[in-house]
Amino acid sequence: MLIDTHSHLYDEKFDEDRDAAVDRAKEAGVGRLLLPAIDRESYDAMFALARRYPDYCFPMMGLHPTSVNDNPAYREDLETVARYLADPPEGIRFCGVGEVGLDLYWSRDFLDPQIEVLRFQAELALRYDLPLVLHTREAWDEMCDVLRAFRGRGLRGILHGFSGTEAHYRKIGACGTFLLGIGGPVTYKRSAVAELLPRLSPEELVLETDCPYLPPVPFRGRRNESAHIALVCDKVAELYGTAPEKIAEITTANVRRMFGDAIFS
Ligand SMILES: [Zn+2]
Repeated sequence: MLIDTHSHLYDEKFDEDRDAAVDRAKEAGVGRLLLPAIDRESYDAMFALARRYPDYCFPMMGLHPTSVNDNPAYREDLETVARYLADPPEGIRFCGVGEVGLDLYWSRDFLDPQIEVLRFQAELALRYDLPLVLHTREAWDEMCDVLRAFRGRGLRGILHGFSGTEAHYRKIGACGTFLLGIGGPVTYKRSAVAELLPRLSPEELVLETDCPYLPPVPFRGRRNESAHIALVCDKVAELYGTAPEKIAEITTANVRRMFGDAIFS
């Protein structure tokens, strides 16, 4: 069984064929989809998908760092996140706090509020004993700095879309228990993460699509979807010189260790 640990299948880009996309994922051997939240604009769509497929789609709760930029109401939005985690809506059980983090790609002007929002949500992950799904873009040094303050407190989670260096990974690994989320970019030419993988153990990885974004080869330039995670698995298997079934088995066991009963009971 494969697990897509990062699927935005509730995105409006799937409004025309969402059920068919779920069917294609199932046919491709994907046994679970984890749904990272973005912000208030899309929580309801995510809840709707989770309610439609309660044993298949598992939602998270969080405020994405780019939704903090130019958002004077970000503290209210954080209160919404806290309220949902304290009192989930009917038929919803959150499997993680995500996706949250730091994103300096668009602007560095909002670093301070992004750090505040990240810290607040890391505390929520600890309070509810949930994994933290971290989005980090052009902010790996800053992410290391924020997480250092959480050392020794039992933080755990996924470094979604990992694009840092081995040194970043080791530094963050000293701050908690973190797995690397490996997606479409591992299939690209001159992929830094593909070069890094052989120096890590498959026990440190989970697979993800980030669909509708970041499609693997040969789907670049098109909409990504959860079924394509099989191509990511194939590439990771090739890098380790092993069978895709082996990578599927190991990464699924890693997800089970990280998320536990929330998605396997
Ligand atoms: Zn995402």
